[in-house]
This record gives sequence, structure tokens and C-alpha cells, in this order.
Amino acid sequence: MAYEPKTVGRCPNCDEVITRDWLLIEYESDGRPARFAECPDCRNVVHPSAE
Ligand SMILES: [Zn+2]
Repeated sequence: MAYEPKTVGRCPNCDEVITRDWLLIEYESDGRPARFAECPDCRNVVHPSAE
């Protein structure tokens, strides 16, 4: 079974770890994956920073 990371990164505003449950959309931009997620702590829609 392939390993699926449970987290998508950290909130750039408050440094909270964001899990896949909060992922809103995932797409490719210039061949690189880009994501939007809602932060479970500050409730902003952010680009999670990769860990
Ligand atoms: Zn946050």
C-alpha cells in the first residue's frame, strides 16, 4: 500500500500543521503541484508551505 502523507504542509500565517482533511483544492501550476487549504486554526484559506 502506498504511503499517503496525512499532512499537506503548514499554515504560512500561524504555522499550524494542516492535514488532508482541510485540503480544498489541488492542481498543477507550471508542472508543479499547488494546493489551497483552509487552516484549522486561523480559518484562512492559505497555500500550505511544504514541509
Ligand atoms: Zn493558520
